[in-house]
Amino acid sequence: MKIRVGLGFDVHPLESGRDFFLGGIKLPSEKGAVGHSDADVLIHAICDALLGAANLRDIGFHFSNTDERWKGKDSKYFLKEVTTMLAAKGWKIENVDCTVVLEKPKINPHIEEMKNVLAPLMNVEVDDVSIKATTNERLGYVGREEGANAYAVALISRII
Ligand code: MG
Repeated sequence: MKIRVGLGFDVHPLESGRDFFLGGIKLPSEKGAVGHSDADVLIHAICDALLGAANLRDIGFHFSNTDERWKGKDSKYFLKEVTTMLAAKGWKIENVDCTVVLEKPKINPHIEEMKNVLAPLMNVEVDDVSIKATTNERLGYVGREEGANAYAVALISRII
């Protein structure tokens, strides 16, 4: 068996009056993330972790932010597509572990729902998806509530 690990990182600006999609759900929030697609910073980090583990480039390579097809696109589509790309190469997703960094809103009450939404898109058990949350202790752009960061690692395996 071959196993590989991958790392993903993403950032999106936050602006007032925008919908905030995170982890595949819409969060109640005064501010929302800005981007070409639905700007789901957590799903984008997970996609990059999975693509990195399989050495399949990155999310921007496959879903360019200048392509009209992806304007306002639900990022759950990207995660499902990435899972399909990995499966086509024989890769099985073992687990993903993520950290979202933002000041507001608090996401802990929504983590179970996010895990339940994301796990089937990756063909894994809910227990194979870990989502953690932290603030940036009011430091920098995240601390000023101008943006959100997300980090993810993924482990994948393949029978050689
Ligand atoms: Mg992104």
